[in-house]
Parts: sequence; C-alpha cells; structure tokens
Amino acid sequence: MARVFNFSAGPAALPEEVLQQAAEEMLDWHGAGMSVMEMSHRGKEFMGIAAQAEADLRELIGIPAHYKVLFLQGGASLQFEMVPINLLRGKPVADYIHTGEWAKKAIKAAKTFCNVNVAASSEDKGFTYAPAQSEWKLSKDAAYVHYTANETIGGVEFHWTPETGEVPLVCDMSSNILSRPIDVSKYGLIYAGAQKNIGPAGLTIVIVREDLVGKAVPTPPTMLDYKTHVEAESMYNTPPTYAIYIAGLVFQWLKRQGGLAAMEQKNIEKAKLLYDYLDSTEFYKNPVRKEDRSRMNVPFTLKDASLDEAFLKGAKERGLVQLKGHRSVGGMRASIYNAMPKEGVVALVDYMREFEQRHG
Ligand SMILES: *Cc1c(COP(=O)(O)O)cnc(C)c1O
Repeated sequence: MARVFNFSAGPAALPEEVLQQAAEEMLDWHGAGMSVMEMSHRGKEFMGIAAQAEADLRELIGIPAHYKVLFLQGGASLQFEMVPINLLRGKPVADYIHTGEWAKKAIKAAKTFCNVNVAASSEDKGFTYAPAQSEWKLSKDAAYVHYTANETIGGVEFHWTPETGEVPLVCDMSSNILSRPIDVSKYGLIYAGAQKNIGPAGLTIVIVREDLVGKAVPTPPTMLDYKTHVEAESMYNTPPTYAIYIAGLVFQWLKRQGGLAAMEQKNIEKAKLLYDYLDSTEFYKNPVRKEDRSRMNVPFTLKDASLDEAFLKGAKERGLVQLKGHRSVGGMRASIYNAMPKEGVVALVDYMREFEQRHG
C-alpha cells in the first residue's frame, strides 16, 4: 500500500494512526459487534464516544466550563448565518474584518440579517495581509466582531488575538483550529468545519459562551437556534456520528503528540521549511506579507505559469498530490495541517528544488 502526501486544503489528510485505528475498529467497535456507523446515536456506546470526544477537546484547548461545545452539521457556511441569527440580540449592526474569500462569504451572509460594518479590509493589497488592530474602525454599538483566523485560500493568518472589550469576538477558525494553543476566554464564539484540521467533512464544531445562547431572533427556526442544540447536547436530531468518532480519535492522537503547544512547534517548523525555501528563490513566489503568512495553507506561484501543469504532473509522480491552487487564485497551494508529517514538507521542498534546477 502506498500512501501519498496529500496537500489538499479540505477535506484534508488525516493522521495515518487514526485511519489505522478506525480500520481495526471498523467491523466490531470494542466488542459491540458492529461499526460505529451502525450504532444508535442514543445508545450507551455512541453516547460514550461523543462524551469522550467532547472531554478530550475541552482538555486539549482548555475550554472553560462556561463555554458550550456543540457538534453540528451544515459546515462553517451555516455558521455564517447562525452567528447573526443568534448573536445580534436586537442590535442593528455587526463588525466584520474582511481578509479574503471566506470573510467575504461570512459578510455576504450577515448582510441578510443586519448592517455589516466592514471595520477593516485588506482588499487594497489583494488580501495579502491581516489588518492591524490599530486600523480597525469598530462601531460603537456592534453586536459582535467577526474575523477569519486563517484565510484558507489566500494563506493569510492572524498570529495574534484581537481585543474587543465587552463586544463578543466571533471567529471562523475552520482552517487553523487545533494548530496552536488559543485562549478561549477571549472569544464569544468560535466555529470550525471539521474537514480541514479536525476530521471528516460533515461535522462542524461550535464553542460558544453560555450567556450568548438563547438570545436568537424572535421565533428562530428551531434547527438554527444554538439553544436547541445546547439543551439537547448536540443530539436534537441525528448527529454526524461517524465524523464525531473520527474527530475523537484525532483528539486522542493530538494528546499523544503532546497537545497543542507541541503541535504548534511542529507546525512552525514545517511552515518555516517551506517559506525559507520560497524566499531563497525567484522561481517561486508567495504573495503574503511575511508576518501574516499562514502556517496551514501556503499558496505559491511559479515564475512561468505555463510550467504549472508539468509541475503538478511531476509532483504526482512522486506521490505529492492536491497541490493545485484554488481556482480563484491559480498557481499552487500546499496545505500542511497537523496531519501532514514533516517528511511530506521535506519531500515537497526537495521536489520544488529539483524542478527549479530543471526549468529555472
Ligand atoms: C472551508 C472553509 C469554510 C467553509 O466550510 P464549509 O464546511 O464548506 O461550509 C469557511 N471558512 C473557512 C476559513 C474555510 O476554510
């Protein structure tokens, strides 16, 4: 069996150990005589799996007791709508920081429900940086401030946490959650689709401060009210059971790696390998301001775009796959989430160097 190094932005690579364990437990989970996929979500076995997953996530991130953890569906995209529905609390305006493709979608969704004040934007430089807090023009009466911690397409990451005082800070952490320690107490709400750095597609994690639950617009759709899911402990309807189980295995794997501080060190090291090489040559180029470069998603272009196809073909022959950039920006993108081993990045840099020598 030959496993490739998969640089997909999402659904993305999972730790091989996790896949091995899932394979071993596939037909008979811990003597249950059935797969996790076949279990009732209200049965003792699955309830135990879900409770363990939540406990491990709480321990890994250090989630304070007055925050609820929800296992939902609908992706980060549904959160673009659930956030305004639940957090506006009668206020007419919300502040958004515009940093690229994902922020743009969050802003568009919010505009259906309120006035959106774009408090800062990096559009002036093609979304290649994270606007400094000193440039943010926050409104006085905002219901919340929303930002995108890591722009998966543009490769721009906030390496600092904004300060918004009494106004709840809301963060789309889809593509860098669990890549480093975070201080949850600085946030009102954090959400993340699982398919980047957590587990399989179909699961969305929401971490929400207790006092922000139960304040939705009058008569909200039941399924779009955080209160529904808090009260039912994410079991109001059938949750994505298998995705929760795999995410739980990933949380245990992260604990075995030494937790989020250890993951951060590994992620810094991997990203440095790639950026140092990119900076050492004129053949490849990354457009992002150095201090805001993403540790998770590294977009780059070749000096001569007519070589793109040859680059991708040669990479594939070496087992380096899914390197094609997002259709909106072109070029290449290497996503190097937690599950990408350092050897994968080394193999990529070796190949890039070799390709440059041949075509440069
Ligand atoms: C992938 C992604 C989304 C969209 O996630 P879906 O689960 O497809 O809805 C939103 N925000 C960010 C930062 C992403 O990377």
